[in-house]
Amino acid sequence: MLHVWNTLHKKLEEFQPISDKVVGLYTCGPTVYNPATIANFRTYIFEDVLKRTLELFGYKVHHVLNITDVGHLVGDGDMGEDKVEREAAKTGASAWDIAKMYEERFVKDAERLNIELPEGKDRPHATDYISEQIALVQKLEENGFTYKTSDGIYFDTSKFKNYGKFSGQKMEEKEAGARVEINTEKRHPADFALWKFSQPNEKRQMEWESPWGVGFPGWHIECSAMSEKLLGQPFDIHCGGVDHIPVHHENEIAQSEAAFGKPLAKYWMHGEFLLVNGGRMGKSEGNAYTLDDLIAKGFDPLAYRYYCLGTHYRSKMNFTWEGLEGAQNALNNLRAAIRKLSTEGAVLPGIESFKSAIGSDLNTSSGLDVMWGLVKSGRGDIGPTLLEIDNVLGLGLDQYIGKKIEIPLEIKLLADQRLEVRKNKDWAKSDEIRDQIAEKGWTIEDKKDGYELTPRN
Ligand code: AMP
Ligand code: ZN
Repeated sequence: MLHVWNTLHKKLEEFQPISDKVVGLYTCGPTVYNPATIANFRTYIFEDVLKRTLELFGYKVHHVLNITDVGHLVGDGDMGEDKVEREAAKTGASAWDIAKMYEERFVKDAERLNIELPEGKDRPHATDYISEQIALVQKLEENGFTYKTSDGIYFDTSKFKNYGKFSGQKMEEKEAGARVEINTEKRHPADFALWKFSQPNEKRQMEWESPWGVGFPGWHIECSAMSEKLLGQPFDIHCGGVDHIPVHHENEIAQSEAAFGKPLAKYWMHGEFLLVNGGRMGKSEGNAYTLDDLIAKGFDPLAYRYYCLGTHYRSKMNFTWEGLEGAQNALNNLRAAIRKLSTEGAVLPGIESFKSAIGSDLNTSSGLDVMWGLVKSGRGDIGPTLLEIDNVLGLGLDQYIGKKIEIPLEIKLLADQRLEVRKNKDWAKSDEIRDQIAEKGWTIEDKKDGYELTPRN
């Protein structure tokens, strides 16, 4: 049985899909104007584990992840520059090239983390859905939820009676939060842009004709338009990071429900934040690490995935380099321990313990415990069960189970040379060669009649 925490009802619920055929899953994707950080990837790893868990429980999943390539402004209050356009102006590249470049980088990083991203039409771009977004704004206009200001078409939050209910914020709190940026023409501070006009003094690269004038969509409308087109409304599960609860998701719900008069999604699941040394991860703090930063320090991307699995997705996770090193060591030990196993045979009944761990609102750390329990049992027939478990955890164990280590000639020669110097009791030279071997990514252990070499990754 699969239980999930539903942000909408603020409780743990037994998962019951809308249709018994396919589960519709929508996860808000990246705004492609800079590299995604490891914090963003914590959320995408959680969503990937969710998708894989649904599959373990026998569901087919229709997963959609959007790419925001237009309309996400620097300021939260619908003010400021468009993030993609700003990056284009700064670098001299076109806005389209910026978006393409960072999407490619996102996809590459996701692959290195074993995140199975949707492809093709299920990874839609906001710029490919302009007419659908315009149609949705027109529907909201017909239903009486919009008004026009000098800089755009806005959603009137006071007309939507459930506004604020999702995040549990009182209207006054929301308004106080939104008042930080001054947009004097808004009727209520929490109102948000559905369509923004290009300003006479700005030359945008991405802009389109609309019934209200040339401009571009507001940030939130793309998710409402694309999810309805690709998954229908309501669909089963909508995900994102917790920062989306008070604004982005509250606004998506308002737009979609005001347009179609029915719920947007049945379940909402949100991943908690990654913190660094107990605080915010940010560019100004100098700790907005990317996957490349981790790799440059010698870590395997999958060690980061392993690290994330150790903390429940609804708990804050504090990133430290020591923590990552612990995860890397655990992963190395795991890989070394499973090489001698066979992939032949049946999945053992022990898989049920894993299902009950992961089925309990994606308890990944209990899932890891179950996996380690099997590994430490010393049984030789656990290979297929580990592979089944890894279909959810995504640690790439298929590359290690039953795979002999290929030792490069250069390493073997060093190891043999070390054996010789040890016979002559030249311990200093022996240590020196061990360090050389370590630098090349291998660990050497002395055995009764020789040595054992293990790759560090
Ligand atoms: P963005 O590109 O800013 O829309 O963010 C991409 C995803 O990362 C969203 O689902 C955010 O909620 C999520 N996110 C942003 N900051 C963090 C963080 N510090 N920890 C975990 N997830 C985050
Ligand atoms: Zn969204």
